Amino acid sequence: NPGDLKDFTLITPTADVRTDTHGGRAKCLQRLVRLDIPIPRTVAISFGAVHKIAEGARPDTPRLLSAFGRTPLVSVRPSSADPDWGGPGAVLNIGMNNERYAELCKTIGREAASAQYVKFIQAYAIEVARLDPEPFEEAAEDDDPVRAALAAFEIEMDEPFPQDPAEQMQEVLRSMARAWEGVSARLLRQARGAPVDAGLGLVVQDMAPGLGTGESGSGVIRMIDKVTGDRQITGRYKRKGRSGRKRQEMFLAADPRGASMEEEAPELFAQLTRILDTCRTNLREEMEIKFTVSHGELRVLDAVKVVRSARADVKVAVALAEDGIISPEQALLRVEPMSLTELLHTQVDPEAKRDVILKGIAASPGGATGRLVFSSRAAQTSASHELPCILVRRETTPEDIRGMHAAQGIITERGGMTSHAAVIARGLGLPCIVGASRMRISRREKTVTTADGRVFHEGDIVTVDGTTGEALAGAVPMLEPALDRPFRTLMRWADEVRDIGIRANADTPDDARMAETFEADGIGLCRTEHMFFEPARLTVMREMIFADSEVDRQAALDRLLPMQREDFVELFRIMAGQPVCIRLFDPPLHEFLPSDREGLMALAESLDLPLSDVTRRVDALSEFNPMLGMRGVRLGVTMPEIYDMQVRAIFEATVEASRQAGAAVVPEVMIPLVSAKREVELVKARIDSVAASVRVETGQGFDYRLGVMVETPRAALRAGEIAGYAAFLSFGTNDLTQMTYGLSRDDAGRFMGTYVSNGVFHEDPFHSLDRDGVGELLLIGAERGRETRRDVVLSVCGEHGGDPDTIGFCRDAGFDYVSCSPFRVPVARLAAAHLAL
Ligand code: PEP
Ligand code: MG
Repeated sequence: NPGDLKDFTLITPTADVRTDTHGGRAKCLQRLVRLDIPIPRTVAISFGAVHKIAEGARPDTPRLLSAFGRTPLVSVRPSSADPDWGGPGAVLNIGMNNERYAELCKTIGREAASAQYVKFIQAYAIEVARLDPEPFEEAAEDDDPVRAALAAFEIEMDEPFPQDPAEQMQEVLRSMARAWEGVSARLLRQARGAPVDAGLGLVVQDMAPGLGTGESGSGVIRMIDKVTGDRQITGRYKRKGRSGRKRQEMFLAADPRGASMEEEAPELFAQLTRILDTCRTNLREEMEIKFTVSHGELRVLDAVKVVRSARADVKVAVALAEDGIISPEQALLRVEPMSLTELLHTQVDPEAKRDVILKGIAASPGGATGRLVFSSRAAQTSASHELPCILVRRETTPEDIRGMHAAQGIITERGGMTSHAAVIARGLGLPCIVGASRMRISRREKTVTTADGRVFHEGDIVTVDGTTGEALAGAVPMLEPALDRPFRTLMRWADEVRDIGIRANADTPDDARMAETFEADGIGLCRTEHMFFEPARLTVMREMIFADSEVDRQAALDRLLPMQREDFVELFRIMAGQPVCIRLFDPPLHEFLPSDREGLMALAESLDLPLSDVTRRVDALSEFNPMLGMRGVRLGVTMPEIYDMQVRAIFEATVEASRQAGAAVVPEVMIPLVSAKREVELVKARIDSVAASVRVETGQGFDYRLGVMVETPRAALRAGEIAGYAAFLSFGTNDLTQMTYGLSRDDAGRFMGTYVSNGVFHEDPFHSLDRDGVGELLLIGAERGRETRRDVVLSVCGEHGGDPDTIGFCRDAGFDYVSCSPFRVPVARLAAAHLAL
């Protein structure tokens, strides 16, 4: 009675087979049996038994094989609790030997029999005896491949190929059990989330070869397209030839390109699609099944979840929920938030061939192909000829903004996750690689030399894969974004369950429209300086910076005011009643000035000043450590006219936008880089006075909400007194990380890789919030802020805002919202939903 086999369980509807003792594959096969789906005789070996085998126990393989008749021919497949944890490869045709081979030659012909035997010898040699594959690949090409393969085995092993099926099985089980316990397999599965003691089960199954007379063959079938997720029968069927011995490969569903099972064996096709339907309804998943047919009799060997793209994953989850097979909540949990980035951007086709030319930090996801260019001007020229281009720079500055707009992808030699290039590229949704420090750029020669010495010239076609941080030579096939109905449905479900707000960092009307497209709950950070980067505005901005007198400065500011006002009216209009948080000017002024000689000359010309004058002024504005210098509220305190102009533009826009909308707009105004209460006091007094003037001038009342960015450690520590003046505190975790670590956000990229690989940092702290250090400052700031003002609104608006782990941290700390790049908003919405479920 095979049911008695010690440590072995024959899979029957009532056998005690569980995922946590025998693995997912074994459990799934039992479910198929329960659904009356015909599977070949299968025996499951438990985690415990496999573990004992790895430790040297010898299983009773003669008894195991006795479950499969007098002349067994079986396969062994791995069965871990989660298929994503990997496992040893399957071994097929165990039991094949000279005697069996001779028999098969008679029944199925020499060619087919020898193909099977050789495959087994090859698999056994490579997987079990761990021999080099080459001699066996050569043997397969020989005129007498069986003889050649047997000989190759004997030469390598000094003993003949084992003929006893029980001995073959013994070795197969031992090698699979040992492979699972090996160091590399363990590390790999732990990286994929497996517990340290994850077990391996094995399933031993009758081969049920599809080799009889009548309709016979083997294949795989699924009901969806793996890439798009569209409902479509795909797979293949290898039918055993009617005449002659050649197998005929055919489509499953009717296809104009050739023969199909649907047309040639309609009953079989109908039976398979019924089985897939049964699986979908009962296993609540799109399954792919492996099957064989022998004399017209169907056997399902295995059923596994269809491995698919992220977009297919979304489509499947939503369809299952809409068909009532799973709940919307389960559908949400089935989609990994980060995988959504694959839907939001054009992606390098995962199946594409990759010729990697350089690597850096994956700073902004997506794929793009274009000609290499080395300056912003070249990028714009390229764009004006409608030639896509990839901009390569040592690092980018605000001057490069137009070039970045014109480019399809960005690569920089320096920088980290929050460097200028990275932040802007994420905002624009452009693929970007930063910190590609092993390449060498020559601006003069217009070349990039890669770490392995390959030289690429301006105009050469390359592809940026910002998802992996790799650049590839040439053009590569791409997958287009998919913001389709299933995606929007899933997002709606996410919004119904999540309990933390998700806003977007949006600087311009274009960004705001993007935020609207991705259905953000408002704008959490509008970096107003980014509004000055348009060419016409940059010139006025520079005039303002160069102004010698109050009067001249005011004249330039008066010209900037209407421009800003228009932007704000537009932002309020696009966001239609959703909150808009506008941050006053933050960067050091020198960022608006050219640094190279060419640029300085152009500036001298446009300002009609001697070059020496311009150079002197630029030098006077340059700082040794500008990120800790004259920026943020420090500019607001020392040069208050800029903030005056900005808040006037905000309030005038408020009046105008309220009039247009017929409803009151309440702007949020935020002060950057605060470290002392008094800074807020000073700025607030001026803001209030501008508000009062605008109310008088326009005859219109309005409210505004004042907030403070907490992005210096001191602001977090003194949040209690600061909250006295602020309706909201928004933690700028980019600067806060920089200042807490004393780590330059622009330069950290150079050694971040070494730091992470040496375990100094668990992860790049500019990417994933440092819970222990920076996180503690967040908690302190939040607590002290709330002590002063119970209802103070708390948020994070640094780049961490879109990181699922950071969202979890903020939710636990009772924050009201996070704000991130528009393209991250869907990821954040789904991540927030996962946290609430
Ligand atoms: C921050 O510092 O986290 C922030 C949001 O501001 P910025 O990145 O513009 O300095
Ligand atoms: Mg900041």
